Amino acid sequence: MADTVDLIFFGAHPDDVELSAGGTVAKSVKDGLRVGIVDLTRGEMGTRGTPQIRKREAAAAAKALGASFRMQLDFQDGNLQTGREQELQIIEILRTYRPKLVIAPWPDDRHPDHTRTGNIVTEASFYAGLRALETGLEAHRPQTVLYYMQNYMLAPSFVVDVSKTWKTKMKSVYAYKSQFHDPKSKEPATFISDPKFLAMIDARGRHFGALINVEYGEAFITKQPPRIDDMIAAYSGREI
Ligand SMILES: [Zn+2]
Repeated sequence: MADTVDLIFFGAHPDDVELSAGGTVAKSVKDGLRVGIVDLTRGEMGTRGTPQIRKREAAAAAKALGASFRMQLDFQDGNLQTGREQELQIIEILRTYRPKLVIAPWPDDRHPDHTRTGNIVTEASFYAGLRALETGLEAHRPQTVLYYMQNYMLAPSFVVDVSKTWKTKMKSVYAYKSQFHDPKSKEPATFISDPKFLAMIDARGRHFGALINVEYGEAFITKQPPRIDDMIAAYSGREI
């Protein structure tokens, strides 16, 4: 039987998890948790690089973050498929690795693949707990699904302090060498290869950090509010 993990981060494309939640992956690993990353596609529609290069880059990024595993499914980049067949593949992963929490993209984003990923992961997380749905693996339902933001900004439900793992996150982002700014690259320019894109990622991390009075933060949205055991600790180091 495969080793279980505490958290599984799902993304539509390789680099989605790194850009929005990589600091939280690295922090969780640093805190002793076991973390898996699952990309629903191989990012084969990317303008730069090739699927082989992106696969190598994704493996290097997962290694930089300390993930226990990274898995790439084949739901089709640019037209992400979400039928029962795809749902069952996610259910199989959840029942095998039995995460306590699942993290997915907020299911409303400019990129339809992100929206579809948020929806199918949420729905599969529920269905994975149905005992009557027999797949040969014991039913398992995570405690909840947490969401990260991508293009659309929403009010965060909470922010994770990732100041200590921001450098590791950026190392994982830079592992996608074919995608980001490289003055020597002869490949066509894209939205994310523009130097302004990485400056935006830094600014966003600093902005979310400022909301909780730390250097860098990553924001999450929940449909179910978190229980706070220590209200004072949750606001420590701050002044209104
Ligand atoms: Zn994406």
